[in-house]
Order: sequence, then structure tokens, then C-alpha cells
Amino acid sequence: MHEPLTLAEYKAIAAGLQFPTNAFVDGAFRPANSGKTFKTTNPATGEHLAEVAACDSSDVDYAVLKAREAFEDGRWRQLSPGERKETLIKFAKLLEKNRHELAVMESLDSGKPVRECQTVDVPDTIHTIRWHAEAIDKLYDNTNPVGPNALAMVVREPIGVVGCVLPWNFPLLMLAWKIGPALAAGCSVIVKPAQETTLTTLRVAELAHEAGIPAGILNVVTGSGREVGEPLGLHMDVDMVAFTGSTPTGRRFLHYSADSNLKKVVLECGGKNPAVVLEDAEDLDLVAEQVVNGAFWNMGENCSASSRLIVHAKVKDELLKRIGAYMREWKTGDPLDPENRVGALVSKNHYEKVTSFLDDIKSEKLTIAHGGQTRGGIFVEPTVVEGVTAASRLFKEEIFGPILSVTTFNTIAEAVALANDTNYGLTASVYTGSLKNAIRLSRDIRAGLVTVNCFGEGDATTPFGGYKESGFGGRDKSIFAHDNYCELKTIWIDVSDRSVDETIR
Ligand code: NAP
Ligand code: MG
Repeated sequence: MHEPLTLAEYKAIAAGLQFPTNAFVDGAFRPANSGKTFKTTNPATGEHLAEVAACDSSDVDYAVLKAREAFEDGRWRQLSPGERKETLIKFAKLLEKNRHELAVMESLDSGKPVRECQTVDVPDTIHTIRWHAEAIDKLYDNTNPVGPNALAMVVREPIGVVGCVLPWNFPLLMLAWKIGPALAAGCSVIVKPAQETTLTTLRVAELAHEAGIPAGILNVVTGSGREVGEPLGLHMDVDMVAFTGSTPTGRRFLHYSADSNLKKVVLECGGKNPAVVLEDAEDLDLVAEQVVNGAFWNMGENCSASSRLIVHAKVKDELLKRIGAYMREWKTGDPLDPENRVGALVSKNHYEKVTSFLDDIKSEKLTIAHGGQTRGGIFVEPTVVEGVTAASRLFKEEIFGPILSVTTFNTIAEAVALANDTNYGLTASVYTGSLKNAIRLSRDIRAGLVTVNCFGEGDATTPFGGYKESGFGGRDKSIFAHDNYCELKTIWIDVSDRSVDETIR
């Protein structure tokens, strides 16, 4: 069902697309109060796709008012879990019906290869919504062991009005990771997509409404971080913000919370993730395939990208040779061509940031093992650079582009120290043929997700988020994500028989 189409078919879908351009609040599209707009473009071609509403704090205020009304009158949160489940499953089915349109819109707006949108982003988005929907009527609250004189219950209640502030690298999927559990819990949601990638978020909100999610429950306010993200973060009537993006912006949301109403903040931030290859790795072809996938999937615009290859000195040359062989399968070019696995970077600004790291390779006189070329002013070829030390910016900073740095080690203790030599702690991969080494390294590396003999992000059942400066306050995905969007309430009911108590006394 999610097999890629042909280039001609994708072009035909692209030609027929209608782009949503207004904010979506209280069940209807509306322009920004100011009437202002911003342009959204296709980074691969530079073509302007649409003029989107450039909202500001007055639009945020209106969306919060409507979201609050919808929360308080109970039109969503007071439905039975089974009823919310049915509506969310209908929503997932509508996404499924519109999967080709969504994949093409995502590719045009972000530069991502349509093949990935079609086979990963869109199906995972649908699965995420469905998974959280299916979970709602299987969650039980607690009664607590307090003895015969009281009944104590701990119940989960939806936290209220939730702001979701999203990045541009997986626009649909990050949206689903937040709204799946938030809507399942019964919250009202206001989404602020990244300016670079607003189109699919708006279309998804429209489809959610069509599926029967009531007006005011899922709202989208488009605009910049300053004009929309900051007022959401500072709003006195927003109960929680779920954010995915860079660590510096995530940090701001903690300030916003402290400066306003102490709203709950959950952050998924950056990563500088190691792929550690031990001398005893069993199958270097498999390692090469997984490392290439980890480093270059989504052009490396991926918080979980394996951007640091930390490899035993004895196997480095052989591994780099095999990595080169796998890289030949990763063709760079037109994102709408399903043959291509590497599309355009998301924007000219981001391209400048990524290519500044190619400049570092020259100034540090490092050796490029593979790749290194740019083209069309927005495409960067997957690149592998050798001899990177822990002091280099290439080793320390998140590049968020298709550049893999290679550092060697001689002992396992050195490998662990290098893997942990970062302020981030999102993901890591370990490649070894030894069960003992696999377990020891999985425990010693400080990261929210460690994969062994593969690269990946787990599945819908496993939590995702980081240690250290990679995250704060909670996890996306899995049943743990549900807790982000809930408050715990203790209800204590005195059932003591006072007449008996008095007699005893
Ligand atoms: P970003 O610049 O931090 O932006 C993220 C979101 O925050 C955007 O919607 C942005 O709006 C908004 N924003 C920017 N400045 C703001 C401010 N002062 N106040 C409030 N909101 C503000 O990150 P990005 O460039 O979109 O995404 C790339 C980063 O996200 C990378 O560092 C990556 O590691 C991280 N990321 C992390 C995960 C994870 O799960 N841990 C997943 C994906 C990405 P505008 O851009 O529209 O102005
Ligand atoms: Mg765009």
C-alpha cells in the first residue's frame, strides 16, 4: 500500500495539489489578524509554493481562547475513551486515503525525497495516530494500598490546552508524535509548525476536522518562532508545551515557562550521536549499510543521525571501503524522482550552515574518504571525513546535514569515553559480535536510545528522547508519551466507620 509511485505519477499529483494557506482555528481556516503572509518555497527548485498566514500573538490569543472553550465544555475530553478512539481511527483512515497527496506535499515543501515520504514519513504518521488511538481504552488508573478506612485512587486527567512547536525535518511525523497522545488523552491542541514546512500540518488539521475531531480541539497557528512560538510559550492559559527542535530554542521554552505560569515543558532537542564499531563486529557489510543509513537518511537532517563514526583502528580502512560501496546506492537529486535517496537541504540558510562544516574539513586539512561535493546551491552530497579528533567542531556540533566524521580508538574504554564526550545524549549505535560488549556498551553510553547491530529509532511501542541537553521533561512515543499530556490526580475518600472508631477509643 505504501510502495512508491513513478516520477510521472508524482509529477501529476504535484500539478494538481491545492495548498492550504490560512491558519486553522476553531474548525475553520482563517487568515492572520494582521492580514500578513509569508512565502513558503520548494527548496529543491526555489519555486514559491504558497503565501501562508503570518500570525502573531493576537492570533495565538484567539486560538488559546477557542482551545480553552473546547476543553472546558468537554466536547472532546468528556467523550468516553472508546468514542475518542473511534474518531481518531477515522482520522487515521482519512490520512491513509490522502497518503499520496500528503507525501508529495511534504516532499515539495521540505526537499525530502518523496520515496522516503511515501514509505516512511506518511505510514509512520498514520501508524502513530492509530497506535495512540488504540491505546486509549486499554489504560487503567490506579487504586492504592491505603487500608480499609479510605479509598485512594490516582487518576490521569488531560492536562488542558497544549502548544506543540515543531521542527521542519519530519513535519508530519513530529506532528503525529505530539498530537497522537495529546488528542488521545483528551487535550485541546495548538500546533505551531516550522515556517519552512507548514503545508502538510494545515492539511492534517483539516482532515482531523473532517474525521469528526470537534472544532477548537486541533488548531494550527502558522508563523515564525518569535511571533507565534514565543507567545505560546509565554501564554498564561497554555498548560503545557511539547517542543521538538534545537537545544537553544528548547532552552528558551524553559525560560518562557518560568516567566509565565510554570506550564509543563517537554523538549526533544538535538543530538550528536555515535556509531561505535568494535573490532569484533561480525559483519562489516551490515555495519556499513547501517552506518550509511544512520548518517545520511533524510540528508542527515535528523536529530538521531549517527554523525560520529567511532571505529576500532584495526577495522577502519575495511569499513570505509564498504561504506563507499553502499554510498553508491544513495543517489542525490530531484526529490520527486523515486530513484533518489538524497534530496535538497531544507533552505538556503541551512545549506550555508552545513557547508560551513565542509570548509572546516579544508581548514583542518582532513581527508575526505567519500563525497564532499555540493550542487545546485542546495544539494550536499553524502560525505565521509576521516581523522576527526574530539577537539574538532565536526565532532562536537550538530551538523544536521549529510556529513559523517570518523574517529578511531584502540580500547573499549576509549570508545565509551569518545561516545560520551558530548553535551548531547539522544541516540547511539553499537556494532559488536559479543553479547557482553553489547550489553556493557549499551549501559555505559549515556543516551535515551541505544541500538545494537542496527540503526533505528525503535517503533511506536518504545519511548524516544534524550539524556543531557538532548531533552527534558518526558519522552515521545509509546505509552510513556501519554503521561506528558496528563496530570495525575489523587482522590482520597474517607470510608472509616467513625462510630466504630469512637467505640474502640
Ligand atoms: P529550531 O530553530 O529550534 O525551531 C524549532 C521550532 O521552534 C520552529 O517551529 C521554530 O519556528 C520555533 N522557534 C524558533 N525560535 C523560537 C523562539 N525564539 N521562541 C519560540 N519558538 C521558536 O529548530 P529547527 O531548525 O526547526 O530544527 C532543527 C533542530 O531540531 C535540530 O537541532 C535537531 O536536532 C532538532 N530536532 C530534534 C528532534 C528530537 O526528537 N530530539 C527531532 C527533530 C529535530 P520557526 O523556525 O518557524 O521560526
Ligand atoms: Mg518549504
